[in-house]
Parts: sequence; structure tokens; C-alpha cells
Amino acid sequence: MKSRKAQNNSSRPLASQLMQELLREARLAQKKSHSPYSGFKIGAAVLTDQGDIYSGANVENSSYGATVCAERVAIWSAVTDSLSKTKSKKKFLDVICVVSSSKEAWPPCGMCRQVISEFAHANTLVLTQGLSGKVKSYKFSELFPESFGAEFLKP
Ligand SMILES: [Zn+2]
Repeated sequence: MKSRKAQNNSSRPLASQLMQELLREARLAQKKSHSPYSGFKIGAAVLTDQGDIYSGANVENSSYGATVCAERVAIWSAVTDSLSKTKSKKKFLDVICVVSSSKEAWPPCGMCRQVISEFAHANTLVLTQGLSGKVKSYKFSELFPESFGAEFLKP
């Protein structure tokens, strides 16, 4: 789901107001979680280099394996919407924010890290927050060093 355009001046560290906006969007998305099996409600919001915010929630499935994490829901929304804006989808995610209904923040799972790596750059900021309210902040390269990417597919 796309939200409104955010003020993005690409300066680091992330402006507090923008971080609060991303956390708020992630919490709004979290309310839409379909999580009858785990009971854990997760929300995500991503900020693109165009200043757009997209959000998503985890959608569980009775097969368990067909469950999709909130991060991927938000990223796929960003990718498919931006197809109409630009032909290049390379590394256009500047911030990924994940909120959870657990006490402490949950970092993205391995499968999400692989999906994130397709569209994030080494300095993409990953923010996580649980119910304790403490925000953890990582550079994506810290969460997923030596990631596999398209550069390895060249003959
Ligand atoms: Zn995941």
C-alpha cells in the first residue's frame, strides 16, 4: 500500500521526523496483519529514493510455507508501483522500517534479507521496533554482508 510522499533529503542520519513517520506508517500497516497462526503482527514501511513510502503487513497461510513477511509485501508494492515511473529498479530503497508485536524488535528474516538485497544499497537504513519502543538501526550491509546478487549471474 502506498502512502503519501515523504520529505526525503537523503541526509544521514535519518531525520527524526521522517523516522517517526515511517514508524507510524509501519504501525498502521501492522493493524492489517493476517496472523491467525503465529499471533505475531508485523508491519513494514519502506522509503524509496523518490520519497515515496510503501507499507505492508505479514500475511500468514495455513500451509505456513506460503506465509509472506511484511517487509516483502511492502517491497513488492514499491517495486510494482514504481514500474510505471522508471525502468530501473536498481537499489532504490533508502529505508526499511519493521515493527513487531513482540516485546523486542525483530530483524528481517533471511528470505527477506535476500529480497531486500535486490533493491537496497549497502547504506540502506533498516529500522526495527518492538513493543518496548526501543528502535534498533542497522546499515543493510551489516545485516547481510557478502550477499548474493545479479553480479554473480554473469558468465
Ligand atoms: Zn521475512
